[in-house]
Amino acid sequence: MRMLHRRSYYPLHRGVLALLFGLAMLIGQANTASAAAGTNTLFAHERLQPGQFLASANGQFRVHMQEDGNLVLYQNGVALWSSQTHGRSGAWLGNQGDGNLVLYHNGVAIWNSGTPGHGPSNLIVQDDGNLVLYKAGNVPTWASGTQRPPSNVGTNTLFAHERLQPGQFLASANGQFRVHMQEDGNLVLYQNGVALWSSQTHGRSGAWLGNQGDGNLVLYHNGVAIWNSGTPGHGPSNLIVQDDGNLVLYKAGNVPTWASRNDSSNDSSIVGNIFADSSNVPCAAGTRDVGIMDGYRSGTLTKIRLCALPNLSSTSEESRPGSAYYIQGANGNALVNSRVSGAVFAMINSAKRAGINISATSTFRTMAHQQALCNGNHLCRNGNYTYVARPGTSNHQMGIAIDFAGTNVKGGTSCTSRATDPGSPVWKWLSDNAARFGYRQYAAESWHWDPLSGPTRC
Ligand SMILES: [Zn+2]
Repeated sequence: MRMLHRRSYYPLHRGVLALLFGLAMLIGQANTASAAAGTNTLFAHERLQPGQFLASANGQFRVHMQEDGNLVLYQNGVALWSSQTHGRSGAWLGNQGDGNLVLYHNGVAIWNSGTPGHGPSNLIVQDDGNLVLYKAGNVPTWASGTQRPPSNVGTNTLFAHERLQPGQFLASANGQFRVHMQEDGNLVLYQNGVALWSSQTHGRSGAWLGNQGDGNLVLYHNGVAIWNSGTPGHGPSNLIVQDDGNLVLYKAGNVPTWASRNDSSNDSSIVGNIFADSSNVPCAAGTRDVGIMDGYRSGTLTKIRLCALPNLSSTSEESRPGSAYYIQGANGNALVNSRVSGAVFAMINSAKRAGINISATSTFRTMAHQQALCNGNHLCRNGNYTYVARPGTSNHQMGIAIDFAGTNVKGGTSCTSRATDPGSPVWKWLSDNAARFGYRQYAAESWHWDPLSGPTRC
């Protein structure tokens, strides 16, 4: 018989090859039940034939009886475990009634789980990635040992000691931003499908992100670190995809140690809740503190610290010395809330480096000024606030909105009918880049940009 000339890989089978072969033939003819491909269980007496597979109930894991003879467990296409029996085309997996899992190739056992004598058992691809053989009473007799640690997939936080596996993602609470651990090895932050930041590690299929207990975020590929946040030693930290589109690592005490948006200074992120009192938030490095003013949000007075931006001039009356609403210290510069001062300062620096001649027509606006604007606009006077906001509700009154010069197209109030102005270098640059700094366009006005999100922001 041909099989007698084949090498047996397990001593167990040397003496019982003929018996096994005979049994296999008998069982094979008498009981050829094949697994229902795609379910998660191979029951006792069933086979996995070449080309068949089992899949975990959550769809993330599959065990394939490959045509090359290798039995391979995959997570979203990435191999986690295999029987290392490739090159044996036509091999099949038998879940024998004696409790042993055996791979046969031309009648020869080429791999087995080493569990004969346990009686009828079930092989299950679990949702945690472990491939386990259970005998009666749900007692495990063999396992691939590939269970994955739990991760808060789909939530906005990767806690310390958690991993983001290939194919997994985190999403911001407002649903606008996602960071994907892509199957190609690249970690990418997206806003509605548009990439804002990446680790630039594509081409390393199977790489995963570890949020290490030492405070360092590390991407590993085949056991080698291919990217890291450079923050070891900070202790357990949480990685959060914020609603403003920034991906930030915070150590204990909510102190940021790393952020995806870090273009030109250390504090180019939007700080905290943009609608909260900012009197205790300092102006970002490079900007000028002009004091605490009355801001308004939904008609409610909120104290805000205003910062003048030396890199952005503004023709607004609040910024122009001698005008009715002038704020001392502005000296022709745009005025913004300290919470956005670093982000806007970095954004304007970036635009200027790209050669964009950028300036503002309005930034922070006082209540008296907004009231006067509304009185002077017949729509606003009559309760239509599409172009002039109701006094007390404009985002200019929180110091977070900027009207830019050089673009003045009106549009609808949703992103499908948004105002676009591709002929304007200012609008074009903002359209391509503002999101990196947490800024978005108000759909109805090509000139108005602020850090809000939702259906009216694009
Ligand atoms: Zn505006």
